[in-house]
Amino acid sequence: MTHNSAYSWLDASLETIHKAGWYRQPQVITAVAGMTVGIDDRSYINFASNNYLGLAGDQRLKLSAISAIEKYGTGATSARLVVGNYTLHQTLEQKIAQWKQTESALVFSSGYATNMGLIPALVGSRDIIFADAYNHSCLKNGAKLSQAKVIEYKHSNYQELAQLLAEYRHLHRRALIITDSVFSMDGDIAPLTEIAELSDRFSAMLLVDEAHGVGVFGKTGAGVIEALGITTPLIQMGTLSKALGSLGGYVAGSHQLITYLQNRCASWIYTTGLSPADTAAACTAIEIVQTEPELRQKLWANCQLLAQRLGISVTSPIVPLFVGDIPKTLAIAQKLQSAGLLVPAIRPPTVPTPRLRISLSALHTPDQIIYLAEIIKQSVQSTS
Ligand SMILES: *Cc1c(COP(=O)(O)O)cnc(C)c1O
Repeated sequence: MTHNSAYSWLDASLETIHKAGWYRQPQVITAVAGMTVGIDDRSYINFASNNYLGLAGDQRLKLSAISAIEKYGTGATSARLVVGNYTLHQTLEQKIAQWKQTESALVFSSGYATNMGLIPALVGSRDIIFADAYNHSCLKNGAKLSQAKVIEYKHSNYQELAQLLAEYRHLHRRALIITDSVFSMDGDIAPLTEIAELSDRFSAMLLVDEAHGVGVFGKTGAGVIEALGITTPLIQMGTLSKALGSLGGYVAGSHQLITYLQNRCASWIYTTGLSPADTAAACTAIEIVQTEPELRQKLWANCQLLAQRLGISVTSPIVPLFVGDIPKTLAIAQKLQSAGLLVPAIRPPTVPTPRLRISLSALHTPDQIIYLAEIIKQSVQSTS
């Protein structure tokens, strides 16, 4: 760029990011095979992806994506309301609704785009949002965009949520409680039974983000809401991009909710329909998740094995390990990488406290997990 002082703040900002130890850069992945990835001619065991069931590389998803491309082409070519609404989209939305036991469902370009449109469609400046402090970035930014008053409650603290509802709910027109079901950086589960009861008692809507719950929890893999048997009316959203191995987001709920969103949700209305390949792959993924519980059993067996080897308890395939400050966490992540293990160091501003974030998959072999646990123990000991 030529020297134009209008852009010089970029240099200063990057320097601040470096100084804080927050600087990040994407690594280039040159090959993918099961749970190993290639970077610069070396292969690593991947403990960083959200490919919980290994479906992103599944032959059946690949074949359905290919045949969708053959039939419909690579792009949906316009917004759903114009000429981008294909049979495939209808099929996927029916599958999601049937799986989630809701009347209806709607798919979006990504989970992030879903929340950025959904929350502002549900509430506005006369309304109030109660939000878990550990919510995902897209719930936080969707809440901001809505212009509703946002009150955060301490992570998973439903007693505090109850107090805040009692204090503020009646001062506003609509109220919306928003929470992850499985927290993306901590792997713990929100107290959804209690939160659902509060939403009912205080006449507040409840939006649950199942991005890391879907495919992993519940008898049919529908998520934490299914696992906990919650039947209170609520709004479920999630992603097609993690356990389901495709790309996209969804909302599942009542028929009125979905038709309302089709008319009022900007991030659904003013964007191109989900690509045929992604849509078809997601359809196949849902069929597999519903009919092959053994994939989930394998995943949970891997979680148990890691828990046992590290002497920790594990509540989901997302396992945070708190090993020290930012430099120490980065040093250990580097040691793991030298040993051929990809485990990201997650740090501020993504999270308040630095940690290693292991994510497990049904495709990991027991040997890979045992090796991971050994190298972690060695690296933690040898890093001061
Ligand atoms: C990953 C994630 C999203 C975003 O989903 P994408 O489909 O990747 O955009 C939303 N919410 C939570 C909790 C997530 O972890």
